[in-house]
Amino acid sequence: MKKSEELKQQLFKQEKCGWQGISEERKTEIFTYCDQYMQYLNHSKTEREIVKTSKQMAEEKGFKDLTTIKQLKAGDKIYYINHEKSMYLAVIGKNPIEKGIQIIGAHADSPRLDLKPNPLYEDTGFAYFKTHYYGGIKKYQWTTIPLAIHGVIVKANGEKVEICIGENEDEPIFTITDLLPHLAQEQMERKLKEGIKGEELNLLIGSMPFPEKEVSETVKLNIMNILNQKYGIIEQDFVSAELELVPAFKARTLGFDGSMVAAYGQDDKVCVYTALTAILSLEKPTTTAVCIISDKEEIGSMGNTGMESHVFDTFIAEILNKLGVNSPNLLDKVFCNSKMLSADVDAGYDPIYAQVHDKHNSGYLGRGIGMNKYTGARGKTGASDANAEYVAKIRQIFEKEKIQYEVAELGKVDTGGGGTIAYILANKGVDVIDCGVPVLSMHAPYEVTSKFDIYEAYRAYTAFWKEEI
Ligand code: MN
Ligand code: MN
Repeated sequence: MKKSEELKQQLFKQEKCGWQGISEERKTEIFTYCDQYMQYLNHSKTEREIVKTSKQMAEEKGFKDLTTIKQLKAGDKIYYINHEKSMYLAVIGKNPIEKGIQIIGAHADSPRLDLKPNPLYEDTGFAYFKTHYYGGIKKYQWTTIPLAIHGVIVKANGEKVEICIGENEDEPIFTITDLLPHLAQEQMERKLKEGIKGEELNLLIGSMPFPEKEVSETVKLNIMNILNQKYGIIEQDFVSAELELVPAFKARTLGFDGSMVAAYGQDDKVCVYTALTAILSLEKPTTTAVCIISDKEEIGSMGNTGMESHVFDTFIAEILNKLGVNSPNLLDKVFCNSKMLSADVDAGYDPIYAQVHDKHNSGYLGRGIGMNKYTGARGKTGASDANAEYVAKIRQIFEKEKIQYEVAELGKVDTGGGGTIAYILANKGVDVIDCGVPVLSMHAPYEVTSKFDIYEAYRAYTAFWKEEI
């Protein structure tokens, strides 16, 4: 080898595709793990479903509801569920908890369309549900695709009706129509942003009139009658409902080579699943390991199930109580001594839209888990920006365990921007860095990830919790 080549290998950052030179054995491991991931996605499209399936998986691995436990000791495995929409899990470590905890935090909510509180109406022989989109979506992507309805309707007497329709082959799906190109002259002149307007996202749900001619709104009546028979509800019950429209697609393997996953809601269920499976297989860690499955990240982390709420503080305080070590101010000190990976997806480099990326600072699919030292937009505004010392520690763990990682920014300096739950924990004093899987078509009904990165995220999260930082 030439001297310059040798020097290059020694001095330059190695950037290689993770599939390059991979063993058949590792490839099988990755594919098997991702098959389970896709199954999980198919049963967990909303935050409530994530909590439900995750609770079941946790209980199978011996995790117990914290509220049923009086005293905690090293090795104990617990979980806590907040309003059925967010969840925390912990494995108590050998070290005194005062020395800090190691947190991985992901979010269960994904962009979607929610039903308005008064959703049902009839127009010219069709019945519709009105929607209000949740999170940052490109509205035109949500028309003319099969949609399923998931969620709950709670009646005034407290009775809860769970809805999930449109997922099975024998069930109907729903869709939002769009104009035919022949008549879309004016629409096509609109900016892409306004191509479809919020008030045009109305879900088509029926067209058959109630068989009595004299009454008005016969199609609406027919639908309401069906809903009444099927779910026992009246129109007023929609005011106390949370019904979410999600793509009715199944998670699928993508590509002739089977290297990728296409699925709805991988932001951020890919990090939920990888973090969850990592903590479920964790035994007797040195430092207490905590996994956060948060809600409301896509709309600013507000509300009593969002990361901005104090419920997480209460959860950790309760662990301190039940370990018998709590004292004034201890919670704050625990946070100041704690470390975290904010497990959220990153924008993957998309060659078709190369102009928005800085190719030297992008997350590439297939190159491992992506770290973002900071997020924020235009001048790092709103970013928590991890300390170099902390980044070095995380690097050290990954390099020791031969976990492939890349460090990236979300888009070009004057173009990009975004946020996660990182700053919320950082504001409490925790050392935090964003660390997740790069995604193509983020926030679209069908998002794309690399199976290599998914497995590498699982390995990275496992390594983070096993190591005392
Ligand atoms: Mn996210
Ligand atoms: Mn997002």
